[in-house]
Amino acid sequence: MPLGRSILLAAARSRRLNDFALRSKFVKRATRKFMPGEHADDALAAGATIAASGRGLIFTQLGEAITSAAAARAVRDHYLRFFDQIHALRLPAQVSVKPTQLGLDLSIAECERHLLALAAKAEETGSALWLDMEDSSYVDRTLELYVTLLRNHPSSGVALQAYLRRTPDDLSRLMPVKPVIRLVKGAYDEPKAVAFEKKSDTDRAYYSLASTLLDGAREGVCTPVFGTHDLGLIARIAARAAVSDVGKDKYQIHMLYGIRDAAQRRLVAEGHIVKTLISYGAAWYRWYMRRLAERPANVLFVFKSLFG
Ligand SMILES: Cc1cc2nc3c(=O)[nH]c(=O)nc-3n(C[C@H](O)[C@H](O)[C@H](O)COP(=O)(O)OP(=O)(O)OC[C@H]3O[C@@H](n4cnc5c(N)ncnc54)[C@H](O)[C@@H]3O)c2cc1C
Repeated sequence: MPLGRSILLAAARSRRLNDFALRSKFVKRATRKFMPGEHADDALAAGATIAASGRGLIFTQLGEAITSAAAARAVRDHYLRFFDQIHALRLPAQVSVKPTQLGLDLSIAECERHLLALAAKAEETGSALWLDMEDSSYVDRTLELYVTLLRNHPSSGVALQAYLRRTPDDLSRLMPVKPVIRLVKGAYDEPKAVAFEKKSDTDRAYYSLASTLLDGAREGVCTPVFGTHDLGLIARIAARAAVSDVGKDKYQIHMLYGIRDAAQRRLVAEGHIVKTLISYGAAWYRWYMRRLAERPANVLFVFKSLFG
């Protein structure tokens, strides 16, 4: 892994930098590239504009690894209200959560109850619930939770990370339950025994997994979502779908708010189903550092906002 990326991902775990960043007006300003604001209302307002351009929406309140049962319940209650808000505003929106934000580190049984409550609410309001994938120590438990969710609420989705060596096996195990999969490259600092070190290996794995997902979509056994801003990869996947007779209605492309906006619009114009993931919330530090690590030019952007 390039040194700059490891440093940024290590900095993501620093409590001191976290506290500094959350207090700094300048850093806060720089985050606006990737999030419209800290409040749910900021995200909903930005979402309305994006929806008007023909894109669907995924919302997520930032936060992970909470340390009390009361905090997990507060997150659950926040999302229960949030589903009502997106329904009232008639936004074509879904919600994505991190299992540790709903107490996975404290109790898997309690986390499962919260997730089931949210997936039921999603279904009742015409939406759907997604599980983000966190670092590799959570994959087994997240997939276990996902299978339970899916059994009760078939539109629920989960993210799988192409950089993990185990993902092809996870995908084969999930196929019999008709999963909804958001394939991403992977955003965490992982040991090389667990994840590919070279980006080219991750990119190759991504295309191979995408091909398996497209075959599954053709047979009607899975719903693939490609969560990437890699336009070359998206073009290859779309070409593979076309020759395999998988219609554009059978897969989706999801990207993050503030990244490749023009490309998101172009893909909509070309007939693709595109959704934009919008983050909000006060606990943005770790998430923001992962976004910086994804692209060195983003660090330059922060300096420009600090001093420009
Ligand atoms: C909808 C969605 C959901 C995600 N959910 C998860 C998850 O649950 N778990 C997880 O581990 N990861 C998740 N990720 C993050 C993902 O793992 C990657 O870290 C991230 O998407 C960057 O990889 P890439 O596929 O865009 O490809 P890359 O090869 O990294 O990037 C391709 C190009 O996209 C542009 N780009 C990429 N990232 C940025 C950025 N931060 N700022 C500006 N330009 C950028 C650059 O031009 C770059 O050259 C998610 C990503 C998306 C889009």
